[in-house]
Amino acid sequence: MTQEFDYDLIALGAGSGGLSVIERAASYGKRCAVVERGLIGGTCVNVGCVPKKIMWFGANIAHLLDDAESYGFDIKNNGFDWSRLVQKRQAYIEGINKYYHGYMKELGIDELVGDGSFVDAHTIEVAGKQYSARHIVIATGTRPSFPNIPGAEFAITSDGFFELDHLPKRVAIAGSGYIAVELAGVLNALGSEVVLYLRKQHVLGDFDDLIKTTLFEQLQNSGIEMRTQSEITAINQQESGLLDIEDNQDKGMTDVDQVLYAVGRRPDLESLNLDKAGVKLNKRGFIETDLYQYTNQPHIFALGDITGRAPLTPVAIAAGRRLADRIYDNQQDRHLDYEWIPTVVFSHPPIGTIGLTEAAATEEYGDRIKVYQTQFTAMYNSISGHEVPTAMKLVCLDDEEKVIGCHMIGPAVDEMLQGFAVAIRMGACKRDFDDTVAIHPTSSEELVTMR
Ligand SMILES: Cc1cc2nc3c(=O)[nH]c(=O)nc-3n(C[C@H](O)[C@H](O)[C@H](O)COP(=O)(O)OP(=O)(O)OC[C@H]3O[C@@H](n4cnc5c(N)ncnc54)[C@H](O)[C@@H]3O)c2cc1C
Repeated sequence: MTQEFDYDLIALGAGSGGLSVIERAASYGKRCAVVERGLIGGTCVNVGCVPKKIMWFGANIAHLLDDAESYGFDIKNNGFDWSRLVQKRQAYIEGINKYYHGYMKELGIDELVGDGSFVDAHTIEVAGKQYSARHIVIATGTRPSFPNIPGAEFAITSDGFFELDHLPKRVAIAGSGYIAVELAGVLNALGSEVVLYLRKQHVLGDFDDLIKTTLFEQLQNSGIEMRTQSEITAINQQESGLLDIEDNQDKGMTDVDQVLYAVGRRPDLESLNLDKAGVKLNKRGFIETDLYQYTNQPHIFALGDITGRAPLTPVAIAAGRRLADRIYDNQQDRHLDYEWIPTVVFSHPPIGTIGLTEAAATEEYGDRIKVYQTQFTAMYNSISGHEVPTAMKLVCLDDEEKVIGCHMIGPAVDEMLQGFAVAIRMGACKRDFDDTVAIHPTSSEELVTMR
């Protein structure tokens, strides 16, 4: 006798991963439900990619206004209204939330509101009611990590950044990853005084050295104070509400408006009762999955940030869609290839990268590697007078010079990478780059004219 279930599929978490798997499964006629305790759209829509990019656009306008005079404009900047930008941003996000609710309804997907937890391997409890499913996908994402230091309760994370109702005057940011450098760039451009606390000597640990060095110098040149090998050891609140910071360099800071921690994200597992379903974690505390998103339970899958692999929205989406294609549309062997994932950092200037860094390639292939690189000032910045560097590197393998790494920093590289990523994923060699006629005058032409 086959067991009857309430649903074919329940997705835990209505973020990028949960929504994409459930919407694809529903399109194949499956009975589906998605469980969400917060806002539909998850991290990306509400406290991640989307609001971050809007703030980044705002920061770009601040830079443009600075440049305008060099281009002949006589513009008086009467100031910047943070709350107006935040209001517009939130209205945009509410529009996306609304769209998703409508889309779920249209597809016949039930939204189960509340904290989801396993009762057994096929049953989820939400708000006191139990629902069974043949398949369950865990896509509950991650949460920002907090330090364990005295006064940590006075600090915020990226979630708190998106709740700020005014531009902080003086901000200390702890962290060297992409979220730290992105938010540092935004706040700096919009007028905050920013100090970046770095545990080591550099930013963006795993990135290519050319990118790390160029960004570090640019952050410094743009007025951000870079405190290397520095850690905040305590935060004290004054009666006025302003904060004083103690650090391991005995330098400290006084009268700080906000201390922002961007020191990584941890899995969000507390309420899931994974033990009731027998789902295993890996050594890092993320859910263990194979390439096909299987957990150790044959009908339970996990995808997105909760798996600890390439925590990016398009990765969660691609994994979710491919999973539904495989299990409900018989597209055998369909799964996400975790190699060749292009990534953009929305720093000022932005970064685009795909494949191996020079250091990683050299470690793997030794002297079979050949590197091409260029550094220049883009035409726009040559006129604006406000120096912004552009740097590009291609890492090539063997005599055929297959491109196995492409790393760029500079204005517009965020929009440049996608097309090159297609070519590189298809196995393009340096000769293919050389044989592609350049588009002039652009910065991207430098990538096909390197010698
Ligand atoms: C500041 C910031 C900027 C970012 N910028 C980018 C970017 O530019 N580009 C990019 O590609 N990625 C970016 N990311 C990463 C991106 O947001 C994540 O990779 C993506 O959201 C992961 O999707 P997910 O479905 O795995 O998890 P999430 O989107 O985090 O969704 C998980 C959902 O599960 C819900 N949930 C958790 N536990 C339960 C439970 N027990 N019951 C019910 N619901 C539960 C949560 O409320 C959440 O809504 C950024 C992230 C941050 C924080």
